Amino acid sequence: MKWVYSFGEGSGEGDASMKHLLGGKGANLAEMASLGLPVPPGFTITTEVCTAFYDNDRQYPDGLKAQVAAAIATVGAAVGRVFGDADKPLLVSVRSGARASMPGMMDTVLNLGLTDETVKGLASLAGDERFAYDSYRRFIQMYSNVVLELDHHEFEDILETYKEERDYFLDTELSADDWKSIVASYKGVVEKVRGKPFPQDPTEQIWGAIGAVFGSWRNDRAETYRRLHNIPESWGTAVNVQAMVFGNMGDTSATGVAFTRNPSTGENEYYGEFLINAQGEDVVAGIRTPQPLTKSAREAMGEEDPSLEEAMPKAYGELTAVFDKLEKHYRDMQDIEFTIQENKLWMLQTRNGKRTAKAAMKIAVDLCQEGLINREEAVLRVEPGSLDQLLHPSLDPNAPRDLVLAGLPASPGAASGEVVFSADEAERLSQEGRKVILVRVETSPEDIHGMHAAQAIVTARGGMTSHAAVVARGMGRPCVCGAGDLKIDKSGAFFTAGGRQVNKGDCVTVDGSAGKVFFGEVATMQPELSGDFATLMGWADNVRRMAVRANADTPHDAQVARNFGAQGIGLCRTEHMFFDAERIVAVREMILAEDKAGREAALAKLLPMQRSDFEDIFRVMSGLPVTVRLLDPPLHEFLPHSDDEIEEVAKSSGMDAQKLKDRAHKLQEFNPMLGHRGCRLGVSYPEIYEMQARAIVEAACTIAEETGERVTPEIMVPLVAKSEELSFLKKRIDDVASAVLKERNATLDYLVGTMIELPRAALTADEIAGDAEFFSFGTNDLTQTTFGLSRDDSASFLPDYLRRNILERDPFVTIDTQGVGALMEVAVEKGRKTRPQIKLGICGEHGGDPDSITFVENLGLDYVSCSPYRAPIARLAAAQAKLEERASSSNA
Ligand code: PEP
Ligand code: MG
Repeated sequence: MKWVYSFGEGSGEGDASMKHLLGGKGANLAEMASLGLPVPPGFTITTEVCTAFYDNDRQYPDGLKAQVAAAIATVGAAVGRVFGDADKPLLVSVRSGARASMPGMMDTVLNLGLTDETVKGLASLAGDERFAYDSYRRFIQMYSNVVLELDHHEFEDILETYKEERDYFLDTELSADDWKSIVASYKGVVEKVRGKPFPQDPTEQIWGAIGAVFGSWRNDRAETYRRLHNIPESWGTAVNVQAMVFGNMGDTSATGVAFTRNPSTGENEYYGEFLINAQGEDVVAGIRTPQPLTKSAREAMGEEDPSLEEAMPKAYGELTAVFDKLEKHYRDMQDIEFTIQENKLWMLQTRNGKRTAKAAMKIAVDLCQEGLINREEAVLRVEPGSLDQLLHPSLDPNAPRDLVLAGLPASPGAASGEVVFSADEAERLSQEGRKVILVRVETSPEDIHGMHAAQAIVTARGGMTSHAAVVARGMGRPCVCGAGDLKIDKSGAFFTAGGRQVNKGDCVTVDGSAGKVFFGEVATMQPELSGDFATLMGWADNVRRMAVRANADTPHDAQVARNFGAQGIGLCRTEHMFFDAERIVAVREMILAEDKAGREAALAKLLPMQRSDFEDIFRVMSGLPVTVRLLDPPLHEFLPHSDDEIEEVAKSSGMDAQKLKDRAHKLQEFNPMLGHRGCRLGVSYPEIYEMQARAIVEAACTIAEETGERVTPEIMVPLVAKSEELSFLKKRIDDVASAVLKERNATLDYLVGTMIELPRAALTADEIAGDAEFFSFGTNDLTQTTFGLSRDDSASFLPDYLRRNILERDPFVTIDTQGVGALMEVAVEKGRKTRPQIKLGICGEHGGDPDSITFVENLGLDYVSCSPYRAPIARLAAAQAKLEERASSSNA
């Protein structure tokens, strides 16, 4: 078996297509090497080793050690060094590299191979003792932290005290002797904590680091990250070992990170940060504040220190040439890590850069207009779920505001909430339904759960590529980074900024687009969905097959849906029209009526309300189909509970309060979700659905007359299990409709159909299709009833199922294709057998979930229906699903 793939000047054994085997980082290093870019030689240990390691009780596969030893020798030969040699020591970096980038994992160990002996060799080779011991102390700290699991503070305290005692301010002020003395103290700490000295054998060091990378694949942080991002555990990670190049060899050396375009706005401008005389971790850790790459960015920020463009023009020129080459080659915006060693540029990483939704839109549209990709590729470039960010509010420019703090605009969007200082507290309060803003000195992968729970994130340290910034952008949370004025008090009770104090629990508003934090709540506004958004959505609409409708119960929702491009309403839940305080009394009166006469009296009150609701909705949606679902009230949501509520109904209906109370008591159910709801109510009391059918048909006639446009109501019967239920109700609906049309001397195209939300309905869809002119999959109930899993109660224990990998995804979010999906397949097939042209849609929450949309595209449904705000997501996801289906059928 080949476990190790080498790469180096001009060649690589792998390429960018081998991410599954080499991980993202390894595959791209090999690709860059083959492109002739300056990549330090190295090798990748494959993801298959990780899988074998876990399958085999954490044992490495046979042959691995020999292959690694040979690969190290090859790397050494390429750079004229020998691993472990006292005179010409080869130093390496060891980095993890999964298929998808994973901040939860062990990241990097630099300068590996340094020992008390080899450090002397490094010093004489470089002619710089200070540099050698600076590298050694970095190595001891990094290795001890990520491999030996010692806390950073152990080392930081030593360094801080050392500097304080000698009046040093910057690390660059320390001499070779200072670093030697620090190294001795560091080694002392390691020995004290571990009971063993710091390892002096480079081979032991490298296997320690390799083991830490594989071990970190299953640490808690990585597991959380995988769960949040749906990354399968079976993927495994690769390990990359590479000859060290040094950004800390004085003022002609530097290290940095860059994007070929602005990852926040998508602007076509070089974008990034660097530090002179530093190693990679200094940039990411935010200990020193990095400088911008370009002169124009520096000037825009009002910075004094030179940009890379000004400080090292030659290396900058090489770097921008590499940017252009990489963008043309990968046909996408790249995120790059580089080091400059004594004025020579080295590339350490490239990958398709993470970006905000706004930037993704702009970059996709621009790349298409630059001729690098076509429109369909552009449509595939934007992740549908990320559009959520664009649909987020921004600050109302006219709202008054009180600035407390400014920093970097690290991730766009605006949000308000109460200040908290720890990730755990953020999570706890958000579980209580409170909105929180997480404020930290800096964030680390340990904080991911809190960042996820927070509305927005603010940090004192770190640049645009710091952990907080990268993670917040990925999550779509507004974020302000590097707010230097922010001082969090040790007590964790407040922070101060510019002489003002903000306490834990105080409300602040974060504007991640401007990099500002305001005191109190500032009014926000919905975004403008024009420009690149409209262009890309237009391209998506051109390739999309399925229609996108929205679930909307009010004229306002309907208007939002239309604005977001919905092509109709797929679900108007009529019971939601009655939650209004005034109306609920009439509904209660209807439910609690003792006889038909009482019910008809209550229905007579409801009819005009319903009719005018429908008129308003039909008017907004004029020309588009509207599916109105007849009443489906889980009784527990509607029965009166308090004496006051009973009293109200008594007053309105003239019934005796005690009698009402008894009746409400009698109607209480043990299992309301499986009780007297949906069409069962219609079967018991057909007059309810008859009233609704009348209101729908009358409203449709009125609006058709008023607007002169077609109004096509689709009347939907909920929770059907047997075809006989539908036949019974359809006859009554049709009778009412004919009566109304006769009264009004009008004609109207309307459909009567049903929801498929019970397994029995799916399995007998051929019979149900005899009466149903359309099916709409109610996958909320279909999931509930297929799993026998309560929609209302499962949130308390589903997380255990996800954590234990019994479920990969929450089935109420993403369709369980094996179970619920299989029932849908049966229903589609049987429904079409009886009625080949039957109209098919989905209106459960899954209608707005991109993965579920892919599934129903393949099932051949005619439309998806989702919440109005998700309509753009659904439009894009449906387009992508169509393109992917086309690609896979042309491959087949
Ligand atoms: C469903 O069950 O999927 C559905 C859309 O209906 P509701 O959520 O109203 O039960
Ligand atoms: Mg339902």
